[in-house]
Amino acid sequence: MNLQFFNSLSKKVEPFFPLEEGKISMYVCGPTVYNYVHIGNMRPVVVFDTLRRFFEYIGFEVTYVSNYTDVDDKIIARALDEHTDEQSIARKYIAAFEQSLAGIHSRKPNIAPRVTEYMNQIISFIGKLIEVNAAYEVDGDVFFRVQSDKDYGELSNVKVDDMLVGARVEENEKKESPLDFALWKKTATGIKWASPWGEGRPGWHTECVVMIDSIFPRRYIDIHGGGFDLKFPHHENEIAQSLAVNHNHLAHFWMHNGFINIDNEKMSKSLGNVVLAQDAIAKFGGNTLRMMLLSTHYRAPVNFTEEVVKSSRIEVDKITQVYRQLAVYLQENNKFDAGRKSSQMDSFLAELANDLNTSNAITELFKVVKDANLALRQKTDIEQLQGYFLTMSDMINILGFEIDYPRLNAEDKKLLAKYREAKQKKDFELSDQLRALLGQRHIL
Ligand SMILES: [Zn+2]
Repeated sequence: MNLQFFNSLSKKVEPFFPLEEGKISMYVCGPTVYNYVHIGNMRPVVVFDTLRRFFEYIGFEVTYVSNYTDVDDKIIARALDEHTDEQSIARKYIAAFEQSLAGIHSRKPNIAPRVTEYMNQIISFIGKLIEVNAAYEVDGDVFFRVQSDKDYGELSNVKVDDMLVGARVEENEKKESPLDFALWKKTATGIKWASPWGEGRPGWHTECVVMIDSIFPRRYIDIHGGGFDLKFPHHENEIAQSLAVNHNHLAHFWMHNGFINIDNEKMSKSLGNVVLAQDAIAKFGGNTLRMMLLSTHYRAPVNFTEEVVKSSRIEVDKITQVYRQLAVYLQENNKFDAGRKSSQMDSFLAELANDLNTSNAITELFKVVKDANLALRQKTDIEQLQGYFLTMSDMINILGFEIDYPRLNAEDKKLLAKYREAKQKKDFELSDQLRALLGQRHIL
């Protein structure tokens, strides 16, 4: 299969080949765990979970890593607010995040490293950056020397000179240049660790690069993912550090997902339109939200409106209805076989192979739904119906919908047979009774 994805680094769609045959290494920046995440944080979760499912379906062994930033000023502030310690804050919001992850049917990463578990590696990595002159220490703080990277800005297209002229970069007298960013921060309050530069804690930009450096033996991965907003400065800074120490761009492919707007407006605290992930999941359900997120190409913005949510729900209901009818019909006729892989996946997979076009893949799924619906009415070819069921199962799984179907026992089958018979004999009273009974059992 020809795989191609848009690489944010080269700014074009490129053929994709894994670094190691049959294997794919992926890293996606995870949340800073100081509060409940909003629906925007769920987009990378769903997009890269779907990419992972697709890779696995076509036979790759995927190592999917996504971190928790459990050291940060906001966590320290929250701990003070809630009269507790940073670890308790992190634990609380990691648990909440994992619930949202499950609620939106995204699988847990293979590894979900926490920054606090990598403190030795972070300190040693910063030491290496100082050794190669890419970083410097001033009075207990360590900064990355942005001008040591002549290609700085290549991911996000920022120009160092422009930034120096016009930028309102934070003033910090300790830095050689206003563009330099903190790798290690001397701290007086909150959680801190001992280091060769005194007590402090790491800066956000150095965490992800160190976790990739520590977890993946190659120190270079196939895909680094995250939201568009992370391109600059976060990912730019990750690349600069990796170039300085490992002489590579950290990832072969950089993939970024678009934002979520609420009623055509940017989601922001000041507008008061922030939608928490857990609230949206409770209200609309994981399938509907996934449908909403995957109906748009991952690089385009998603507009979250009541209308869009409603139509996503209708689409999920349509898929569910036909899928369940297929399952019931096949069981009723003792032709149910859920274990096989579908052989009718080519056009669907081709859409995902083409820069993860989930929107077109969903169109392919609906073609099957339509054909299956028609075939169910005609009840002609049982093998064809079996094929539709398998195809729908595989597509549903890759897109990450969780759609259940009834499992019929002997009694259910008898009831169904009676119902069909009554219907055929036009005994409407009996067939209505049986239909209600089957409805109670969630079969019809
Ligand atoms: Zn990151």
